[in-house]
Amino acid sequence: MTDIEDLVARLHATFASGRTKPLAWRKEQLTRLRAMFTEHRGHIADALYADLRKPRADAFATEIDFPVREIDHTLNHLDEWLRPRPVASGALAGLPDGSAAGTQYDPLGTVLIIAPWNYPVQLLLVPLVGALAAGNTVVLKPSEVTPATSALIARLVPGYLDKEAVAVVEGGIPETTELLAQRWDHIFYTGNGTVGRIVMRAAAEHLTPVTLELGGKCPVFVDRDVNLNRVAERLAGAKFRNAGQTCVAPDYVLTDPETAPALAAALAKSVEAMFGTDPQASDAYGRIVNERHFDRVSALLGSGTTAFGGQTDRDDTYIAPTVLTGVKPDEPVMREEIFGPVLPIVEVAGLDEAIAFINDRDKPLALYGFTESEDTRRRLADETSSGGIGFGLPMAHLRVPELPFGGVGESGLGNYHGPHSIATFSHRKARLDVPLG
Ligand code: NAD
Repeated sequence: MTDIEDLVARLHATFASGRTKPLAWRKEQLTRLRAMFTEHRGHIADALYADLRKPRADAFATEIDFPVREIDHTLNHLDEWLRPRPVASGALAGLPDGSAAGTQYDPLGTVLIIAPWNYPVQLLLVPLVGALAAGNTVVLKPSEVTPATSALIARLVPGYLDKEAVAVVEGGIPETTELLAQRWDHIFYTGNGTVGRIVMRAAAEHLTPVTLELGGKCPVFVDRDVNLNRVAERLAGAKFRNAGQTCVAPDYVLTDPETAPALAAALAKSVEAMFGTDPQASDAYGRIVNERHFDRVSALLGSGTTAFGGQTDRDDTYIAPTVLTGVKPDEPVMREEIFGPVLPIVEVAGLDEAIAFINDRDKPLALYGFTESEDTRRRLADETSSGGIGFGLPMAHLRVPELPFGGVGESGLGNYHGPHSIATFSHRKARLDVPLG
């Protein structure tokens, strides 16, 4: 047996022993995980800085406070989420008197969680919150692209969580390939669609259910006659955080030809307010994760006209916050997910054309709208398909733990957060009780 086979066999045996089922065990694990976050805030922020030059305030907000809020919300509601749900008595017509039916959540067993590098803590450990709360044993596979964070998690987790139930396996493609060859009860993968397909193929071998949290191009529609300073502030705040390396970051803007230049000017002001005149010197601005991604994103800068930004420094993997105007739909920047601090503005005649543009492409993970019109909001919500839709404040929908977070079509399959994580990491079992008497 290889080490990985041995580990997975051990975790299956722990699950079979029933150790992870009691609510008390689950809550204790969540409480310990919470302590790991609060006792190592500084270490976690240091690792994220080493890997991504992630600004400390961002590291605290998105990689520590966010998972801690998820833990607190889960601890506060877990009893209620796990309570068996009876079906309405009307559904029991024809069965003997005294019959009862309902559903209960059973943990799935041993699950594999594979995470990417852009939010390497949050995207590994928020799924873990759900997996533990649902009573599973877990293998965590952090991204090898962010080695300092991966090593820190591998060191911290065994000191806090039940070693018989949770393990971290570090490594790249060879290790992940070996992990994927094992029999799992669920695989939860966050990353790109190419690897998503590899994961799903491997899962098919054992009929293992999967959650695929993928990416894509998230469009933003900006209506005429909106407060462009407010829009720019919120758009820039979402787009340029983590240097644009966020799966739900606005990827491109659709707006009319009159609004486009005014929006670009307002964005320039917002970027200066956030990062000063030289973002490279700002503590609040991050870096591209590595040279491979730097080269990929830099190659997209030639599209359209540079309204502002465009500076790069390969030695520092720095790409300035950049807005491109007059971008045509067939240019390179519009042909792939940007995943960097470059925001193209594509001109459309109006809402009809914007909706047609969105529907012509893969279903996005998120779609955003800035408009004062209730009718426009309704049409965007009803006439397009995306993992989530947000009006007025991009990326904020994922902070609401009662909302399912996930994609549709090319942007993913399944969802999580709050009660939706329990549903993902459990089997909803049907139960019917018919009296013998
Ligand atoms: P990545 O390169 O870190 O890969 C993700 C994981 O897949 C890693 O753990 C890696 O080890 C593993 N992996 C890579 N190649 C593999 C292979 N050939 N076989 C098996 N496993 C392999 O991260 P990435 O994919 O570059 O992440 C960026 C993408 O993830 C973007 O498309 C982004 O939109 C998406 N994303 C989605 C979400 C979401 O929640 N939906 C969140 C963040 C990122």
